[in-house]
Amino acid sequence: MSKQTHAFQAEVAQLLHLVTHSLYSNQEIFLRELISNASDACDKLRFEALNNNALYEDAPELQVRLSFDKAAKTLTITDNGIGMSAQEAIDHLGTIAKSGTKDFMSKLSGDQKSDAQLIGQFGVGFYSGFIVADKITVETRRAGAQAEEGVRWISGGTGDFEVETIHRAQRGTSVILHLREEALEYANSWKLKEIVGKYSDHISLPILMEKEEWKDGELIDPKDENGGRQPGAMVKTAEWETINKASALWTRPKKDISDEQYADFYKQISRDFEAPLTWTHNRVEGSTEYTQLLYIPSKAPHDLWNRDKKAGIKLYVKRVFIMDEAEALMPNYLRFVKGVVDSADLPLNVSRELLQESRDVKAIREGCTKRVLSMLEDLAKHDKAPEATEGVTDVLSEEDKAKQGQYTRFYAEFGAVLKEGLGEDFGNQGRLAKLMRFASTTSDTVSVGFADYKARMKEGQDAIYYITADTLAAAKNSPQLEVFKKKGIEVLLMTDRVDEWALNFVHEFEGTPLQSVAKGAFDLGKLQDEEEKKAAETAAETFKPVLAKLKEALKDKAEDVRVTSRLVDSPACLVVTDDGMSMQLARMLKQAGQQAPEVKPVLEVNPDHALVKKLDGSVHFHDLAHILFDQALLAEGGLPADPAAYVKRVNALLS
Ligand code: ADP
Repeated sequence: MSKQTHAFQAEVAQLLHLVTHSLYSNQEIFLRELISNASDACDKLRFEALNNNALYEDAPELQVRLSFDKAAKTLTITDNGIGMSAQEAIDHLGTIAKSGTKDFMSKLSGDQKSDAQLIGQFGVGFYSGFIVADKITVETRRAGAQAEEGVRWISGGTGDFEVETIHRAQRGTSVILHLREEALEYANSWKLKEIVGKYSDHISLPILMEKEEWKDGELIDPKDENGGRQPGAMVKTAEWETINKASALWTRPKKDISDEQYADFYKQISRDFEAPLTWTHNRVEGSTEYTQLLYIPSKAPHDLWNRDKKAGIKLYVKRVFIMDEAEALMPNYLRFVKGVVDSADLPLNVSRELLQESRDVKAIREGCTKRVLSMLEDLAKHDKAPEATEGVTDVLSEEDKAKQGQYTRFYAEFGAVLKEGLGEDFGNQGRLAKLMRFASTTSDTVSVGFADYKARMKEGQDAIYYITADTLAAAKNSPQLEVFKKKGIEVLLMTDRVDEWALNFVHEFEGTPLQSVAKGAFDLGKLQDEEEKKAAETAAETFKPVLAKLKEALKDKAEDVRVTSRLVDSPACLVVTDDGMSMQLARMLKQAGQQAPEVKPVLEVNPDHALVKKLDGSVHFHDLAHILFDQALLAEGGLPADPAAYVKRVNALLS
């Protein structure tokens, strides 16, 4: 194939622009990215070679080599991994295959710092080479292909790239970075060693660099014909030394690994710039043997809510990389967890399909889930509420102090995802319920657990009350809360979209029923005194004829009409039956284009309200009835079925 010119996919061109402009303050990550690609390429070769040993050709020792040439201003990263065919080079280095690219692009703000964070999370991979290079040459040959099927790919990182066929004896890929003037510092062995130590020590593959010889603090260049020294010149002694530890971090004993090394490893596998919130590292022995190193990130990734967001677990079998994003190893509601599982029992040629059915995998998933939950429980235990500890910091243990605020931070990022577990993982539902936090009528911050709530329940209160709404303001001002406020009963305010769905699966907490304040007949049980009950009964009796008329007027809208003692200031509110879907959930489903059953709510009226008292005998009875209903709907964030008719009725009364 002679030289061909191809244009980059539009997204790539855009990404390249961003890479060179936003990642400037984080230049050195390019090396981590390129070494990581080289290492992936070696992993892929090892994996394909399981069924075809010939792919190793005459070089069975997989490795990455770094070399630089100061005079030519190049830095080269070479691997003897799987390599690329011409078509693969065109496809893989000219497009972004990852899903969610558009979504990612749309999240960029133009603010360099936050964009850089996002790009880091997304992983710019190969293109990060352009942070330090104004031209990149890639020379590659696929393992198993002929030497004549080598490929050269060249680009200046703007609109297009060139591809041509070359002769390449060696299998694998060389990425040759033509360094920018201001990036020449990377053509330096100390600098490279420093960066490799920082980011790539744990790559299980040896990273080699040419050995240099020094004398009297100067580099010796044996090629200097006069036998003299040529300061700073590159030496070609052709002796290579390994510059990374080249042992997989998770295989080392815990006590030999520093926090910093754990954090660096996390950054390497997650491509996150930020250190993780916490991690757990264990060797599990028993019927299935495996090592787990699991991290909880500090920040939610931009695609956490993406429906096909993959799990963050890499699967290894006896140190051999098998696959990324091994979703079978972690339940979906823990999809934010990143890390590594290295199994001693699974077969090396395990496929995704096989994983789904394997008993060992099931045991690993259960083990990993339990570990993550324990990790969260530990954070929660040490995250004492600030109001409980204000001014008395000396009651906090060292561990409390170290973990202060961590669970709150975790929950703000991932709490809504964790809630999905209530409906997904019945085996751990009890543990998950304890990890839930909500705002409440006594706390604006999302910090109230069911246990905290239970501990401060009123004498005679026999349910945990909650309300779901779209926003905190809507929840707080909901008419259904009026009597609870009056009586000083705390109500949990739930405003995550997933709450309503998740609460469908949880009916009680440690023996105390959960009760939505917008569902079912109103019954405060022992919290209502005899006098109040009497008054309610009397009101129900005297209102009977009015209720019958209301019911008739609203027969298309309301399932039933009754008097209530739920309300104090508002004339009316809507409730649904105990097992009915809430109005809010029905609205959400409809908005999402899903089938929702028609919910006909019950209209409850406040017999002490002036407007309700006016109903009896009013010439506007019909209009008032509809206004009452529509207003109750508005108050809980809904919209009247016929907004124009509502406006007309109100205006008629106003004038
Ligand atoms: P990612 O590695 O996240 O997929 P990159 O942009 O870094 O994204 O790389 C794109 C693709 O190019 C890789 O998925 C891989 O198929 C190919 N590639 C990159 N570097 C190498 C390499 N050293 N050897 C073989 N293939 C490579």
